[in-house]
Amino acid sequence: MDLTSPRVIKDIAARFDFGFSKGLGQNFLLDDGVLDKIVDAADIDCGVLEVGPGFGVLTKRLCETGKKVVSVEIDKRLIPVLDFTLAEFDNVKIIEKDILKTDVAELIKTEFGDEKISVAANLPYYITTPIITKLIEEKLPLKNIVVMVQREVAERICAKPGKKDYGAISVLCQYYTNPYLVTIVPAGSFYPPPKVDSAVLCMEVCETPNVKTKDEKLFFKVVKAAFAQRRKTLLNCLSSGFSADKQTICELISVAGIEPGIRGEKLGLAEFAKIADVFFDAGIE
Ligand code: SAM
Repeated sequence: MDLTSPRVIKDIAARFDFGFSKGLGQNFLLDDGVLDKIVDAADIDCGVLEVGPGFGVLTKRLCETGKKVVSVEIDKRLIPVLDFTLAEFDNVKIIEKDILKTDVAELIKTEFGDEKISVAANLPYYITTPIITKLIEEKLPLKNIVVMVQREVAERICAKPGKKDYGAISVLCQYYTNPYLVTIVPAGSFYPPPKVDSAVLCMEVCETPNVKTKDEKLFFKVVKAAFAQRRKTLLNCLSSGFSADKQTICELISVAGIEPGIRGEKLGLAEFAKIADVFFDAGIE
């Protein structure tokens, strides 16, 4: 059964009386080459967690690696479809659940024991950022995360300091992972086609974060404040984000070796860490 064929997809939809839900981000992938790239980037030598299997086009490829695949799907109408499309595999388990309401750490422990796993998915666009944030912030035992997302989101996550796309999500992802863009995927590679182009993003999860900081929570508070008002200087942003007088904040930024008049979007991870550490030493939180 070729799940990349629009005719097959339409036949399955008709057979199961399935209507595609825009609200659930149901744009199914039809490109074999892109599936190859996802599986290659994930470099699967361990179990895999998939989010949103849909009709199972990617799930099938993941199953063919022979490793255990656990797929979490919110739409209960898809369960009988997946029983049909994945009937030949005995290394897959479908869990009917909302990934955002799932205790993923517990799921990994139950399904995979102590091994590190890969996450592979063509993510539903309406919750791309919350899913990625959840996977990264929960410090799960992950080797890598290979996901299809909107092109713009992939570019933001990979953006370097000084670029217009660079923001808090770039810092978050680059703190815990080494992200890179695998390939751009045009809207026409999906059925039904979404409104924008997509991209496959690979994030290799680091053993330890890419920068050392005395207090991680404070580090992210500094980052969040620095990007809260993009047109303002770092000094103004941090003065709004922290309850200390402007003069003190100005001095502390200088102690960190940074020019207070700069904009936050120019700072790299190491510079945010320096500021957070100086704030920590000064008891600013
Ligand atoms: N993997 C399939 C493919 O590549 O063709 C389908 C991808 S489609 C972009 C996203 C899938 O995620 C849909 O099957 C949708 O029902 C499912 N989904 C949406 N929200 C979800 C959630 N909160 N938790 C789990 N699955 C979700």
